[in-house]
Amino acid sequence: MAADKPTILIIEDEPAIAELVSFTLKEAGWNAFVVHNASDAWDFLQRRTPQLILLDWMLPDQSGLRFLSKIRADRQFNELPVIMLTAKSMEEDKIAGLDNGADDYITKPFSPRELTARIKALLRRKTPEHAQSLMSAGIVSLDPVSCTVSMNSQKIEIGHAEFKLLKFFLAHPDRVFSRSQLLDKVWGDHVVIEERTVDVHVLRLRKALKEAEHLIKTVRSVGYMLSEK
Ligand code: CA
Repeated sequence: MAADKPTILIIEDEPAIAELVSFTLKEAGWNAFVVHNASDAWDFLQRRTPQLILLDWMLPDQSGLRFLSKIRADRQFNELPVIMLTAKSMEEDKIAGLDNGADDYITKPFSPRELTARIKALLRRKTPEHAQSLMSAGIVSLDPVSCTVSMNSQKIEIGHAEFKLLKFFLAHPDRVFSRSQLLDKVWGDHVVIEERTVDVHVLRLRKALKEAEHLIKTVRSVGYMLSEK
């Protein structure tokens, strides 16, 4: 399973819909996981953080809206992109969903094409590390399309893990991340990696960045951040 494919959690109790959605997402190149109720969804979130959640409105154990409020109240998940799936088409329900922190809303029945288009749009909007435009800090720039890093327009050699790490830092400048957050967000699928492996990759990243190594700051007893300051 590719670690850089976005992971999408589908919370849907109707098996036929869950299967169709899961199939559609996998066809579109994403990692899709299905859970059938709010409690299993919460368990899933304790183990890994998806890039996006598709949340059914009517779930057997708790309403989707209630679950949405719960994740929005949690600091770890309050920015997680959420699209509500619902059979309800009433305007007031849509407003309730958006008021509770949904980013978008799709009414059943929906076409696979509409679903993937909405997901793509939301991922672009919400996760800058999936953006296709050039990212830069100081003399360093990263091109997500050609997967290259340049310094003063000169391409540099950089390993795959260091590339991903740099891309993540560039998408979230001036924010400190702990080693375990970096593991979760950059290596997501490989939870067996030890935290000190992060230190090794940060070291290699700094080495690759040569005179721009100061961009990657160590924040004592917390973790690392990218900052031009
Ligand atoms: Ca349902």
